[in-house]
Amino acid sequence: TFRALMIEDRDGTPAAGFRDLTLDALPDHDVLVEIAYSTVNYKDGLALTGAIPIARRLPMVAGIDLAGTVVESRDPRWQPDDKVLVNGWGLSETEWGGYSRYQRLKPEWLTRLPEGFSLQDAMAVGTAGYTAGLCVNVLEDWGMIQPGGREVLVTGAAGGVGSTAISLLAARGYRVTAATGRPETHDYLSELGATAFVDRAELAGKGAPLQKERWAGAVDSVGSTTLVNVLAQTDYGGAVAACGLAGGADLPGTVMPHILRSVALLGVDSVMAPQARRDRAWATLAASLDRAHLARIARVEPMSKLPELAAEIVAGKIRGRVVVDVTA
Ligand code: NAP
Repeated sequence: TFRALMIEDRDGTPAAGFRDLTLDALPDHDVLVEIAYSTVNYKDGLALTGAIPIARRLPMVAGIDLAGTVVESRDPRWQPDDKVLVNGWGLSETEWGGYSRYQRLKPEWLTRLPEGFSLQDAMAVGTAGYTAGLCVNVLEDWGMIQPGGREVLVTGAAGGVGSTAISLLAARGYRVTAATGRPETHDYLSELGATAFVDRAELAGKGAPLQKERWAGAVDSVGSTTLVNVLAQTDYGGAVAACGLAGGADLPGTVMPHILRSVALLGVDSVMAPQARRDRAWATLAASLDRAHLARIARVEPMSKLPELAAEIVAGKIRGRVVVDVTA
């Protein structure tokens, strides 16, 4: 038997708990993976605490990410000993996920471990970091951010998406401003490449529909009034990559930045992103994510601590990224 963290129906409410599973209990998918590491994303925190229901069928093995080694495969694309990772694809929502020593998965969900990353590195990046890669790609495709040019803003800066986005953008030559509510993280964020700071409280209140232009582009993982203010401060023709809702899922704004300044709101989803986009985001990470920064961003914790870690990330108390050792 092996241990997994499952969300189950307990008297009508979903609740998380550790269970011993056997290989027969796993879904009948074509590739069996021995998992080495998973991770804690904001969404994992929501799923485990029940703050927002994520699992759509129970019982559910939680964990939206995993990295490990193929043990058995009924699909010609994958062979035993292949090193693989999975980000999203409905894991922890409709499909059993990464908080387990073993999982059976559909071949099309697997991404080959990118060259230059260990299994642990892959989970130090995780969905949060891969989403930062997607955001950088869409901003570069939009074309308004320029190395050495006008500032690029990253909100939720000390979180997982934010930390990785700062490191990537700075390595690619952009001038990065970090919006954080935790001044004690300024040194850390400076080491990752941020050169200016905004107190997140300044962006949180209701503001004018059009404000002074400050940003050529932005990566926003906060949403709500923060995103609305960021749009109102974006340069003529600039773009904001919106990927998160740490501050709220609402969007209480106006069309003014869009219709008077041609500002673009670029939505970014990681869960169902097609494989080509994933490969490109991982290539951006492989090329530009400083491995010393990655070591600074992430720490490793045992799977036994997941319930506490989940509560901490939902409370906005985790800095950077947490890798989960599923053997411990
Ligand atoms: P995280 O590590 O918890 O980072 C979120 C950060 O947001 C926090 O560190 C905090 O930064 C800031 N924050 C938290 N609560 C806030 C509030 N009430 N008001 C303003 N700022 C607040 O989470 P993550 O894993 O990086 O994920 C970030 C967001 O992106 C989440 O909403 C997540 O669901 C979303 N996401 C979406 C996708 C996608 O596919 N679209 C993929 C990955 C993540 P400071 O302490 O620096 O202020």
